[in-house]
Amino acid sequence: MSVISLLERRDTLHDAYGRHLHYLRVSLTDACNLRCVYCMPENIVFRPAASLLQDDEILTLVQVAASLGVDKIRLTGGEPTVRRGIVALVRAIKMIPGIKTVAMTTNGIKLAELARPLVENGLDAVNISIDSLDPEKFRRITRRGNLDDVWRGIAAVEETGLTPIKLNCVVTRGFNDEDVADLARLTLEHPWEVRFIELMPFGGTADFQQSQVVPSAETRARIEAALGPLTPVPGHNGHDPARPYRLPGARGIVGFISSVTEPFCEGCTRLRLTADGKLRLCLLRDDEVDLLTPLRSGADFATLRRIFAEAAYRKPWGHRLEQHEIAQSREMSQIGG
Ligand code: SAM
Ligand code: SF4
Repeated sequence: MSVISLLERRDTLHDAYGRHLHYLRVSLTDACNLRCVYCMPENIVFRPAASLLQDDEILTLVQVAASLGVDKIRLTGGEPTVRRGIVALVRAIKMIPGIKTVAMTTNGIKLAELARPLVENGLDAVNISIDSLDPEKFRRITRRGNLDDVWRGIAAVEETGLTPIKLNCVVTRGFNDEDVADLARLTLEHPWEVRFIELMPFGGTADFQQSQVVPSAETRARIEAALGPLTPVPGHNGHDPARPYRLPGARGIVGFISSVTEPFCEGCTRLRLTADGKLRLCLLRDDEVDLLTPLRSGADFATLRRIFAEAAYRKPWGHRLEQHEIAQSREMSQIGG
């Protein structure tokens, strides 16, 4: 029996390296209400809506993924909350048999109004991006954001009782590398997980990203110099990209996502669906498989399932940043972080 026919029969997805792929990140749009310096060029042109997956198409592809054992979905973008009908979409995804967790990564700007309806309709977890506690720096990084909107969004999530609240901070030299201790300090009082992410290079913004990257070791040293030693939190799940630590007496956790200096490809369980319907096999590699064309050409469920499983099997081992290979085809906002 061929590898492919074996793949079609299985109800779990594995790649050629034996990694169990059960986590799909779905980009709902490449558009955004911010323009973060590390994510997209200021003058970016967003794709026309017709070229993006429609709600029914997303649901079909999530059903395909779920039939192959995917149980966790993260909605991302671009900014997922700017998609019209986001609440109904969350509800519909959550109802798909096999889907246990629906999470979202968002800049938080619209969460003040959306947190409650999202949670009431099935959202299980939320990661909110916040790169500085200084309103001026926040605006400089996001090129237009109002920090108070994010705070209102975080408060709205807290009111729903959803835990844990995870805050993402991309550390960018010259923009917020001096702010990391202030962000880590939030974990002293709050049971939040503040995660520091190394800047990753993509496409047209790669030169900027490579020159401004701050290694996690440097971020960590800066936090420890200000706030005391960070102690590893036992029981780290090797599939979670963030390595967890705790400050003395802290209620929350400080995490480091060191994709550039300490890759974690071995434990990767993720696949990504881009807003224009491509299955992206690795965040930092250009390998993609088109699902939109077969979907719109009327491919049946079994065919989509086969294409999906075959693509997943070909997931590359990991990124090749050390070999100076940078994914060129898209910006981060066009992939879904
Ligand atoms: N708009 C949402 C947000 O900002 O949270 C979701 C999409 S964004 C692309 C997902 C995550 O990727 C965010 O935490 C963002 O800070 C991060 N990100 C964006 N560009 C990045 C880059 N070049 N390197 C590392 N992380 C990046
Ligand atoms: Fe928008 Fe998120 Fe990219 Fe910032 S990181 S520009 S909020 S998609």
